[in-house]
Amino acid sequence: MKELQSILSRIDGKGYKAYKDLQGKSFSLADFDLIVHYAQGDPFASPSRIALRIPQEKAQFSPATFNPEIRRKALCDYITRTLARVINQVARGNRGTGKSGLITVDKPGQEILERTSVVINSDYIEARIFVGLPARGRKILGRQAAEMLLEELPEIVKKTLYFSALNPNHLIKHIKTAQDQEHMRQELEEKGLIAFIANGAILPRKSGVDERPMDKKKAIPFQSPPELEIELNPPHYGPVKGMGIPQGVTLIVGGGYHGKSTLLRALERSVYNHVPGDGREQVVTRARAMKIKAEDGRRVEKVNIAPFISNLPFQEDTRAFSSEDSSGSTSQAANIIEAIEAGAETFLIDEDTSATNFMIRDYRMQKLVARDREPITPFIDKVRQLFNDLNISTILVLGGSGDYFDVADKVIMMNQYLPRDVTREAKGIARQHKSHRVSEGGEHFGKLTQRVPLPASLNPRKGQKVKIKARGDESIQFGYENIDLKGVEQIVHDSQTRAIGDLIFYALREKIIDGSRSLPEITEKLNNLLDEKGLEIISPHAGKPPGNYARPRSLEIAAALNRLRTLKVKVVE
Ligand code: ADP
Ligand code: MG
Repeated sequence: MKELQSILSRIDGKGYKAYKDLQGKSFSLADFDLIVHYAQGDPFASPSRIALRIPQEKAQFSPATFNPEIRRKALCDYITRTLARVINQVARGNRGTGKSGLITVDKPGQEILERTSVVINSDYIEARIFVGLPARGRKILGRQAAEMLLEELPEIVKKTLYFSALNPNHLIKHIKTAQDQEHMRQELEEKGLIAFIANGAILPRKSGVDERPMDKKKAIPFQSPPELEIELNPPHYGPVKGMGIPQGVTLIVGGGYHGKSTLLRALERSVYNHVPGDGREQVVTRARAMKIKAEDGRRVEKVNIAPFISNLPFQEDTRAFSSEDSSGSTSQAANIIEAIEAGAETFLIDEDTSATNFMIRDYRMQKLVARDREPITPFIDKVRQLFNDLNISTILVLGGSGDYFDVADKVIMMNQYLPRDVTREAKGIARQHKSHRVSEGGEHFGKLTQRVPLPASLNPRKGQKVKIKARGDESIQFGYENIDLKGVEQIVHDSQTRAIGDLIFYALREKIIDGSRSLPEITEKLNNLLDEKGLEIISPHAGKPPGNYARPRSLEIAAALNRLRTLKVKVVE
């Protein structure tokens, strides 16, 4: 403490660079160590990175709160949220130029993700925070720095990093809720289901830009139709009833504005665990479910879209289709094939964001445009083959075409936000009113090809310097390139985007992308390494663990690589 004090009074009034004297140092303050991993170069630069570490003898978290792994994730998430709240109460904020006075932590959203913001093990607990070291202009404000580091931080530590400082009921509920969701997702597999929505779940959100639940007074709670009602048995909560969506092809139909897309969006996000009070904490979807959209304009690199598209005008071969500017239908086809390659096991598709000509070609259009002039085999003619050959189920929101009744296993109708099982009615209608269309999909889904990314095609540098930067959750700057992730909807936090950017760089550095591993082999290798060594290994700054990564799924890592416009692959037959 004395040492920190004396450095701060020595550099008071000096130029900002003198803060570098703190960098790499560790100070013992009462119960905890304050480690300055990085001191920023000026008051406007990204804030300084600081770790606060307390030995477990003092913090007193029992091993049951962080074993097994799922509990550790939930506990870290809980402490990170508590940190965000307490920082808000304790830190006095701006005092000087630029980011002077700022204290932050990487604040989570509605999902409980694996993060690097807090580390907990049997030896210690460590929080990684960001601090704007204070200055007036470029002149160090030493006294204000002392206020932040020697008064505010100890206060924050006191209220967050000791088990006794936390609300045990809330903490335990947080952990149990996460563990229950993990368990329910396991039950899905055992029972041959792909999704489950508990009765009473609140699916609608506050707004299109606010993921918190809609006001309880306005939202209509979910209620399963009797035909689809099943029971899961999470260990802590106990038996819970709700709608089970079985494997196969499921249609969600209904009038406009009756809650179809809201239901699908809840399923998209429920590949992750939700916090208590979210409304979706008893909604679970198979972990490798992938939302598929049309994404015209995206680049595509040698993807075998032949199952859906062949005989393109002026295009030789759709078994290795490339485009700098794909259309709605070709982009949607590529998204599906790439997701299969990356290991997706369920597709979630909404008519609102699909290419119509990719989804359907009705009888009259089949009559007018002969088969040999239409390159597209619509999804309706492949959705069953997808299930039969590859065991990939589909949930499809569709208000506009009854032709799909023929290929669906289940038809669920949303009516004023409540589901009904209308499978029998829909099948009856399909028998009575034939669609007359001819199935164009053949017996099998079609061949899949392997692609091997070539490392020379990925350049993380801009000039000499490595430049990788997440911009929100929708874009990553990667060297000179910009990876556009707007079409990748299941990235739910900026910190996942940040991790994806650095993961790609890590895979290059470590020669995991080596010109002989295929894309799924690359993501598998990455996942094994992350499981074994932790997410922070991807940091480009060794020994300075950043506290703002959240773990992405392999599906999104692959999706980002596929959207890097310089990517070149070798096709393996
Ligand atoms: P659709 O896809 O059927 O056209 P949406 O899912 O987009 O309909 O929902 C339309 C509107 O209804 C949205 O503003 C949504 O927030 C709201 N909404 C959806 N589900 C519910 C619900 N259970 N309770 C209250 N409002 C809801
Ligand atoms: Mg909709």
